[in-house]
Amino acid sequence: MDHSVTTGASEPYAIRNNLLRSLKRDDLMLLEPFLQEMHGETGAILAEPGDPVQYAYFPCGPALASFVIVMDDGRAVETALIGREGAVGGIVSQGRLPAYARAIVQFPGPFLRISIGDLEYAKARSLTLRYLFARYADCLLAQVFQSVACNAAHSIEQRTVKWLLAAIDRTGDHQVPLTQEQLAGMLGVGRSYVSRVMQSLRASGLLETRRGSVCIRDAERLASLSCGCNDALKRHFDLVLAGVYPTCIESTAQRLAMANDVNGSNGATGAHL
Ligand SMILES: [Zn+2]
Repeated sequence: MDHSVTTGASEPYAIRNNLLRSLKRDDLMLLEPFLQEMHGETGAILAEPGDPVQYAYFPCGPALASFVIVMDDGRAVETALIGREGAVGGIVSQGRLPAYARAIVQFPGPFLRISIGDLEYAKARSLTLRYLFARYADCLLAQVFQSVACNAAHSIEQRTVKWLLAAIDRTGDHQVPLTQEQLAGMLGVGRSYVSRVMQSLRASGLLETRRGSVCIRDAERLASLSCGCNDALKRHFDLVLAGVYPTCIESTAQRLAMANDVNGSNGATGAHL
């Protein structure tokens, strides 16, 4: 991890994480002095199983992190992909507890981090902050439930497409910096399976693969090949944390408009609470 950090989040970063953006203005102000901006490189480890969680990390903009479980044979299989709709580490628990899964940066980009001590300090002072993070915990649990069912019931092609769509929803960019090896590892399948699926998707004109990246050419047609797991999760997010689950159609212009709203005098960014 690149440890170049600055203290006190600039507002544009805070609004580039949807979970932070959904906080009431007073709650965001409670956290802001403690938020540090940092850059996460692909592969950087944010937490290792068994280690006490030191920081909570909020992916901003295109940054993505994953919770992965390291199996007995050394394979690391992804259980949840976390982007600007969420956070990694210490959000859903109270106090300094050991991490269960490895948390790792999947796509490089900016993160905001807060030490667990400072987060607990802020949570102790605001019921609405605790309430919002409890709602996020519910959504994260739903994501893990869905992931378990998806892994058991859906084909490698469906899961590959689901993962690509989840990534572009979160990053807002149809260019995905991803190798087939990375994708195979995350899905817990052999590289040859993913290679065959990608070949078929490429032949259908749905995407292009370049060295170290995938470019989605037709997200709509691609979505028709996916299982419904992303949609099920989005529906739950929309019920529990309205406006937090990202979609790739949420353009930069829309995000800037929301930023202006956050900066405005109404302070009604947590209207769903
Ligand atoms: Zn599925």
